[in-house]
Amino acid sequence: MELAPPTILKTLLSGLFPSRCIFCQQTTGRELDVCPACYDALPHNQTCCVRCALPLAEDINHAVLCGRCIKKRPAFDYAYSPFRYENEIITLVHQLKFSEKIRFSRSIGEMLWQHFSTTGERPDCLLPVALHKSRMRQRGFNQSIEIARVLAKKLAIPIEHTAIERQRSTVAQTGLSAKQRQKNICGAFAVVGELHYKHVLIIDDVMTTGATVNELAKLLKKHNVERVGVLSIARAPVKK
Ligand SMILES: [Zn+2]
Ligand SMILES: [Zn+2]
Repeated sequence: MELAPPTILKTLLSGLFPSRCIFCQQTTGRELDVCPACYDALPHNQTCCVRCALPLAEDINHAVLCGRCIKKRPAFDYAYSPFRYENEIITLVHQLKFSEKIRFSRSIGEMLWQHFSTTGERPDCLLPVALHKSRMRQRGFNQSIEIARVLAKKLAIPIEHTAIERQRSTVAQTGLSAKQRQKNICGAFAVVGELHYKHVLIIDDVMTTGATVNELAKLLKKHNVERVGVLSIARAPVKK
């Protein structure tokens, strides 16, 4: 197992060796570990639903809701997702989840911050989507908490990771239909501590159908949170 060097050593090293792009390994010449060329080439989620960030057809150039949000408004008030879950982003999220490299969470956190800082939203806490204890034990860390750390520093707000627990160990959502996902996640979370926030920003890695964050948003609203937002790295397009 690789051990992370102590912070002082890391700071010294970063002074000696400038940041290298996590994609092409070239020196980036900036704080972000992604060079401008690789950043531009990423699948940016530019045309998407104004409410849930679902990727939409490229030729729409005005604010629009997706069919699902028109049919039933989600429990959260807004969702931002800078990338589509495609190509390099799939690899990046995979590396974040399974390689435990702090470097990936820092880079992703920075990119999320760049995107979120332009929205004008001012949440008073960050809520990383909780993993069930058994999953947490198995993996050893929660990728959503790792990226939330970067954002918490930038926004100067706390990370709430004790008030809500994942009570049921749900089967992995991968491969389930939208309906099955909703059923699978229903009642999976419970409030086990004080929630004294007005505006909570949920942090997730990939938002697929949105069933998980919607379930969390419902629970938060039931506990008097007035505004709930979602920030995820990537949003998956609807399966054809
Ligand atoms: Zn690069
Ligand atoms: Zn939508």
